[in-house]
Amino acid sequence: MTILHTLGFPRIGAHRELKFALERHWRGEISADELESVGRALRARHWALQRKAGLAFVSVGDFAFYDHMANHIQLLGCEPARFGFSSQEAPLARYFTLARGVAAENGAPDSGRPALEMTKWFDTNYHYLVPEFGPETEFHLGSERLFAEVEEARALGYPVKAVLVGPLTFLWLGKSRVPGHDRLALLERLLPVYGQILARLGQLGVEWVQIDEPILGLDLPADWRVACEGAYNRLAASPVKLLLATYFSPLEDNLQLACQLPVAGLHVDGVRAPRELAAIADWLPAHKQLSVGIIDGRNIWRTDLNAALEVLRPLAAQRPLWIAPSCSLLHVPFSLEEETALAPDIRSWLAFATEKLEELGLLQQALDGNPAQVAAALEANRQAIAGRRASPRVHDPRVAARLAGLPADADRRASPYARRQHLQGQRFALPLFPTTSIGSFPQTPEIRAARAALRRGTLDQGAYAQQMRAEITRVIRVQEELDLDVLVHGEAERNDMVEYFGEQLAGFAFTANGWVQSYGSRCVKPPIIYGDVSRPGPMTVTWSRYAQSLTDRPVKGMLTGPITILQWSFVRDDQPRSDTALQIALAIRDEVADLEAAGIAMIQIDEPALREGLPLRRQAWKPYLAWATRAFRVAASGVADQTQIHTHMCYAEFNDILPEIAALDADVITIETSRSGMELLRGFGEFRYPNEIGPGVYDIHSPRVPAVAEMVRLLEKAAAVIPPERLWVNPDCGLKTRAWPETTAALRHMVAAAKTLRAAA
Ligand code: GLN
Ligand code: ZN
Repeated sequence: MTILHTLGFPRIGAHRELKFALERHWRGEISADELESVGRALRARHWALQRKAGLAFVSVGDFAFYDHMANHIQLLGCEPARFGFSSQEAPLARYFTLARGVAAENGAPDSGRPALEMTKWFDTNYHYLVPEFGPETEFHLGSERLFAEVEEARALGYPVKAVLVGPLTFLWLGKSRVPGHDRLALLERLLPVYGQILARLGQLGVEWVQIDEPILGLDLPADWRVACEGAYNRLAASPVKLLLATYFSPLEDNLQLACQLPVAGLHVDGVRAPRELAAIADWLPAHKQLSVGIIDGRNIWRTDLNAALEVLRPLAAQRPLWIAPSCSLLHVPFSLEEETALAPDIRSWLAFATEKLEELGLLQQALDGNPAQVAAALEANRQAIAGRRASPRVHDPRVAARLAGLPADADRRASPYARRQHLQGQRFALPLFPTTSIGSFPQTPEIRAARAALRRGTLDQGAYAQQMRAEITRVIRVQEELDLDVLVHGEAERNDMVEYFGEQLAGFAFTANGWVQSYGSRCVKPPIIYGDVSRPGPMTVTWSRYAQSLTDRPVKGMLTGPITILQWSFVRDDQPRSDTALQIALAIRDEVADLEAAGIAMIQIDEPALREGLPLRRQAWKPYLAWATRAFRVAASGVADQTQIHTHMCYAEFNDILPEIAALDADVITIETSRSGMELLRGFGEFRYPNEIGPGVYDIHSPRVPAVAEMVRLLEKAAAVIPPERLWVNPDCGLKTRAWPETTAALRHMVAAAKTLRAAA
């Protein structure tokens, strides 16, 4: 008998109920009790859905008001001492302080408590709160929430599988504040608390506990692997059955370790690592439960059930199986129900979380039940899959022909950088330390209102364009008045840097309600790339040409790069991602050519997501970086030597991919340094980055206006590692989240700082 389960379910709710309740609570409009009851209602609804779909038990422990790692910080009793919590403070209030921090009182330094750092959960766009450790960190059973939720589910009559982040993964994802402190040393103190939690769950009648150790899909240092074995030997004495869950990545050198740990069962990602299934079935002792993640928890495509059955049948012939989505369904939208505006054929190719649960049910019936019963459903699935494969919407012969005919040197500029630099230097005659910004200017309520009105149809295209032109005129004048050297048009017409392009490209679809949690109450609605990508017409030329017509100073054309568009979308799974990236690159290349023809002499192609596309396994980095950097160069290389290509990156560690960043061969890179700080500059210095570079001189996340002297000091540091004639001066990132007063004030200081350096040069 095949058993169905899910590693986790979207917690935000079918209509983002959790988001809205959270934000009301934070504004003081609803009490903690009212928020708790929203959480309870959501859990009850999501559990009911799981049972209705035939899942053997409901998953308890995947719900969180902000983030499941933050829940574990409280569960394991390791709220950092720096928050100075008193025992009077309610757990939920402390929880939100961990997540959101407390602002400094009247700007007094040190009176605030900054939130825990946030970072990406493996290679997803979900952000977790990073546990903070030090040699003094102690653990204790610090929260009753998990147990209360287990009781809640049992009171509703549901069999429960509890879900925990495993001890190794919990430590791995945290960071030690103390240099040289090895957080693995904390495992000894941590394990007894896990022992207590498992004992409590056993007392509550829980039979199975899913314990997530996705780090088994990473390149683990030897001591972590050894520690893993020791840890699970210790936990083996617990009264519950452990299902060790791995996902997102092949196990590779950790495969035998995972199979041999003394746990009752193992879940593996059959979507990301299909070729490992046979080896796992061999290595996993027969008495252990195998759970196969057969449905893609990271993407929104309908499962090819017949293909899945071909994978499952030989395994099911050997042993009883559990089947599940590959990972938690947290990473996909809730349900297709609202997507009535999608073209019916495209809709028929999709499955969101709710539909994925239904797919599990069909697989179960096909494996165990009477095949005749599901024959019709399997046939419908086969037709939908075949329909997608053959659809003229998906396959555009012109795109294929263009790819096939792409010259081998399409990814190379006509001349090497030194020659381009010379020609561009003559053309632009910029001063030393040229000043610029990253692209966007404050998105005021009026701008948002205009875009919304255009969407609703209450503002016509003509009136909208007039309002945007007025805004462009305003930002050009502001920049001239500030005496910036290289200007931007301000991106007022863009809601989002990927959506704006996706909406104008062929091959993209947009959902009405396809929200996915990014962090806390923040959700994103990624575009769906379902077919060959092409560009029906220019996307940005009118705005850029207009901006350039207003000034003699160069105005940068502003585009989003192919990798960032890919990375922030749901991408088709019927061809390699590298092929889709190249198609997007060609569309951007056409836009670059049109901008150049329209007289735009500098074009910036943003790639903030280049780093986050890196595969989890280091061995896979090289091929990824090869096709990713090639896609960028294909987008960027169709221009004359005198046209200056910029790129921009931010909020990631760049030092380990500097050669590849250099391989983009952009004439100028503007890059955020507030987070990686001087480390990044040292990296650029040591590596001898060959082209021009603008390290951000101020953080755009806060309204704080740094003093001129502060920026001068940063620039002096930069000039010590990067030749001054290659240094640009700019903020860390776009300014769209800022307000105007602090924006002009900070830019004024920035220009003054550049002038100070020029005077001293
Ligand atoms: N050009 C974009 C902007 O300024 C870049 C945003 C980003 O790097 N995320 O908003
Ligand atoms: Zn940025």
